[in-house]
Amino acid sequence: MPRPAVVHSPEYQCDIGLHVFPIEKYARVLRALIDLGEVRPEEVLLPAAAPREDLLLVHTPEYLDDLEHARRTPRTACSEMPLTPEIARTYVVAAGGTTRAAREALTRAVAVNVGGGFHHAFADLASGFCYINDLAVAVRVLQRDGHVRRAAVVDCDLHQGNGTAHVFRDDAEVFTFSIHQENLYPVKETSDLDIGLESGTGDQEFCGRLAEGLEQVWAHRPEIVLYQAGADPFEDDQLGSLRLTFAGLEARDRLVLAGAFERHIPVVVTLGGGYARRLADTVRIHTQTCLVALRLVDTPDRGAA
Ligand SMILES: [Zn+2]
Repeated sequence: MPRPAVVHSPEYQCDIGLHVFPIEKYARVLRALIDLGEVRPEEVLLPAAAPREDLLLVHTPEYLDDLEHARRTPRTACSEMPLTPEIARTYVVAAGGTTRAAREALTRAVAVNVGGGFHHAFADLASGFCYINDLAVAVRVLQRDGHVRRAAVVDCDLHQGNGTAHVFRDDAEVFTFSIHQENLYPVKETSDLDIGLESGTGDQEFCGRLAEGLEQVWAHRPEIVLYQAGADPFEDDQLGSLRLTFAGLEARDRLVLAGAFERHIPVVVTLGGGYARRLADTVRIHTQTCLVALRLVDTPDRGAA
């Protein structure tokens, strides 16, 4: 089996000023994977910015125009992220990255975008720290190009995947599953399956509920799974009060990723949120997710570099 794809762009990092979102995490996770010998620098796939026709499969032309010109309008102003042309481009490149990863997953079984997971973005509305919903764009591109009909988005971020849920609300082919802290941002949309957890929920309860939810995902018979692997259910996260440990988060990743892999469903990792008090903890959680994914495929030459 070919080696899993690792997708990343230096453009995932841009100047967002002083912000709780640790945008430097992407480069750090990639560096960790290289240092561990999981991927060689020359193997990392550099995505192109998503073309406008791909973005239009999810987003409205007016909204994309606002982004392109970094215009503050009712559509963009509700974001909690500044907006400059450079920042807008970061999200467009991230959508290109998740789309590239999704394409690669079809032939390689597993692909990791060391970026992405901007699940709060709606078709015509920014939300949270998200402008372009890369998960939704990737699914729509694969459908348009005839690669898949049925897909699933498994969202294990602390926060509900409200934008993704809304984009696919009337689409029976795309199963959206979000497991998240209930009494927290955002105002909830309706996914195909939502599991809202109480504050203080720990590893055992989380993984038990996740395993139950995943049964519904597998029953949908998706031809690809996009995984939003937010690091923010972590016990020391600044934005939430779920209580998952490193081990619990790794068990979570394994349930989703091995679950898909064992069922021969191509699976794509995106990183999503993560606001641990210590940046190193967020990087460790994301790196661990990537390791679980990359090590599903048993390739003899791993680490030989
Ligand atoms: Zn989050």
